[in-house]
Amino acid sequence: MKFELTILGCGGAIPTLERNPTSQYLNIQDRYFLIDCGEGSQIQLRKYKCKFSKIDHIFISHLHGDHFLGLFGYLSTLSLLGRTTPINIYAPEDLMNLIDAHRDISGKNYNFELNFNTLNFKKTTKLFEDNVVEIFSFPVNHSVPCCGFLFKEKLTQRNIIKAKIKDLGLGIGDIKKLKNRENCIVDGKTIVYKDVTVSGNKARSYAYCADTKYDEKIIPFIKDVDVIYHESTFLEELKNKASKTKHSTAIQAAEIALSANSKMLILGHFSARYDNVEKFVQEASSIFKNTVAAYDGYKYQIKN
Ligand SMILES: [Zn+2]
Ligand SMILES: [Zn+2]
Repeated sequence: MKFELTILGCGGAIPTLERNPTSQYLNIQDRYFLIDCGEGSQIQLRKYKCKFSKIDHIFISHLHGDHFLGLFGYLSTLSLLGRTTPINIYAPEDLMNLIDAHRDISGKNYNFELNFNTLNFKKTTKLFEDNVVEIFSFPVNHSVPCCGFLFKEKLTQRNIIKAKIKDLGLGIGDIKKLKNRENCIVDGKTIVYKDVTVSGNKARSYAYCADTKYDEKIIPFIKDVDVIYHESTFLEELKNKASKTKHSTAIQAAEIALSANSKMLILGHFSARYDNVEKFVQEASSIFKNTVAAYDGYKYQIKN
């Protein structure tokens, strides 16, 4: 069962030849999500063989251009391709005004409905849930209102111990209940689910910590998450600049990952002034060992 992250762009603010502006594609058990949509994201979706037309949910962290300017092009292409299935967008309220203005000026509407959900910048909020995944937004600390996003698999079913099926004469309905942590009664006898099942896979989780300055307030929202993507626009030498512009350094990202008790840290949103980003990994690894740098096109399996 897939829980796979594809980096479509990991550059901050100004794109470079190696790094597109921010965008990520997430496949959780064949549900497809787009996180931010910087300029050129639709080309990156094609390039990295993502399911271009199957994304039903788009999350936009904030309205700096490097996180949403690709959205107009992507939506317009979907419409030209004949999409009619609605798209759910979770974003700052003003994005809807921008989209409406663009539709008015261009005289073109999309063939599909846009279900617009306004982000809450004051508290963590559940944005979406189905039988497999729950998605939350949480406020971060940036120069404009901005949210991170937390993707959590729901607890998976337990596995039945096969020998018990025959021994106890369990029917399909009983097995279903037991796998879902419910006891059942067979021939007047109570069967306790813990006695006849073993735990299934542990639920996996991923936190996208969008543009933010170092802020310990986000830690409770992302505590014990398996993988964190945290922005690290600057190296430690530009710590003051990071603070002034409400961005983070690699070391600060590592401190957040450590305090959140995460298993892996992916660094990204690198300033265009840096060609080589391995120095970011070196700095962060001194605090949090399991750190990698994002590269456009890289895929990560979220594990626990
Ligand atoms: Zn940015
Ligand atoms: Zn920003």
